[in-house]
Amino acid sequence: MKFQPKASHFIDGEYVESAAGQAIEVIYPATGETIARLHAATPAVVEEALQSSKTAQQKWAAKTGTERGRILRRAAEILRARNYELSELETHNTGKPIQETLVADASAGADALEYFGGLAASMTGEYIPLANGDFAITVPEPLGVCVGIGAWNYPIQIACLKAAPALACGNAMIFKPSETTPLSALKLAEALMEAGAPKGVFNVVQGYGDVGATLVADRRVAKVSLTGSVPTGRRVYAAAAEGMKHVTMELGGKSPLIVFDDADLENSVSGAIIGNFFSSGQVCSNGTRVFVQKRIKTAFLERLSSRLAFAKIGDPMDPQVNFGPIVSQRQLEIVKTYIARGIAEGARLVHGGHQLARPGFYLEPTVFADVTDEMTIAREEIFGPVMSVLEFETEEEVIARANATEFGLAAGVFTGDLARAHRVAKKFEAGTCYINTYNAAPVEAPFGGSKLSGVGRENSKLALHHYTEMKTIYVSVNNLHAAY
Ligand code: NDP
Repeated sequence: MKFQPKASHFIDGEYVESAAGQAIEVIYPATGETIARLHAATPAVVEEALQSSKTAQQKWAAKTGTERGRILRRAAEILRARNYELSELETHNTGKPIQETLVADASAGADALEYFGGLAASMTGEYIPLANGDFAITVPEPLGVCVGIGAWNYPIQIACLKAAPALACGNAMIFKPSETTPLSALKLAEALMEAGAPKGVFNVVQGYGDVGATLVADRRVAKVSLTGSVPTGRRVYAAAAEGMKHVTMELGGKSPLIVFDDADLENSVSGAIIGNFFSSGQVCSNGTRVFVQKRIKTAFLERLSSRLAFAKIGDPMDPQVNFGPIVSQRQLEIVKTYIARGIAEGARLVHGGHQLARPGFYLEPTVFADVTDEMTIAREEIFGPVMSVLEFETEEEVIARANATEFGLAAGVFTGDLARAHRVAKKFEAGTCYINTYNAAPVEAPFGGSKLSGVGRENSKLALHHYTEMKTIYVSVNNLHAAY
């Protein structure tokens, strides 16, 4: 098997296997074929990873920021040099079209390594003058061993978005990929070692939720960064709270995308397509509730349907294909259940809605119109290619409806009126907002959610604060007077 790794885990600079662990079958979503067989980590493997990370972290933190940054930037170059090979792997692991993985996965991961590599040496503290010549200094210190737990939609990108800031700050990371997409994190571990990272600074252990839970509960772990669903986030956050650990939670959403009648129609249709059907809709920040102002609703739906007819669905390794399968049979079934629910609750199916009669987990891009706020498809995260179009009349009304959700990951507005665009963006209850665009997530800008969609931010300088703890050192240059 071409994509079979040397072994399941990567610990202390080496591939490690233990056949005693539960089997993990890696499936190519385009065909349903098995492309690799791995094993979940046994308690002994998890222990090995923890011990290795604990030792490595101290050596790594003793390096200067410049040295750490150089290694991260070298790893970025290695990923870039291997971009095609890694994209091919990611396409086989996730089913996402090669035209997407070539630009959005390993390359975005390389951006993160380069960006945080560049910032590593800038992690300095402050001098704080106090009374009578006394002063305090602050020292940003690494947290120690951090655990990263990934979802299956952007496997190597998620691994890099967590590892890069963690390592830049002098932490070690143990990464547990989703068992659906376990392969590419191993390649990141290889790249980091080749770039000169000390062995053990980035370890990968495979497994199901129980392996993640064991790592989160271990007293040697100082921080947990999870990308996953809200229910998993709740469990992981609660477990981390037991040990008062730091957390970053990148969770799900049901984001609104508002199209006013003065918006450029082509751009707003593009925004709705990008915000619903990229990666077959399996993107956390997708604007799946598309609120369209009454006057342009018919025109919007017509243009949307005619453009969706040009989606090229097929073999994701074909460079012309821009719409691939769903990641797994399980996820396909979940999405199909939501489509059935939409129909049953009275939404009008205007495009797609069917599984394709071919091997693999293919589902058409699907659009429902006449969706109301109470319908299940307008309330719950589907995580598949299902767009709900809802009608609105006034700005005040649509803001209230857009915010009437427990999620708060992202939100977007399309309008030709700049003042209105800013007014609406300010009122959105969401961590990441867009004006006349959707779903951009460059490493330079903070990304993350409010409300149930998460805690903390990834990307940008802010991410560094989530991987350090500030030590304050007070210094007195005066004699000390005690009461007795
Ligand atoms: P899950 O929540 O099912 O799983 C996420 C990860 O957590 C997996 O690796 C999973 O392992 C692991 N896990 C499960 N239970 C536990 C536990 N008790 N303790 C520790 N780890 C555990 O999410 P999916 O993988 O299905 O990914 C889809 C979700 O991720 C969507 O909700 C999506 O919105 C969200 N997401 C958020 C992003 C963001 O940046 N905000 C970006 C991408 C996705 P296992 O797979 O073995 O169960």
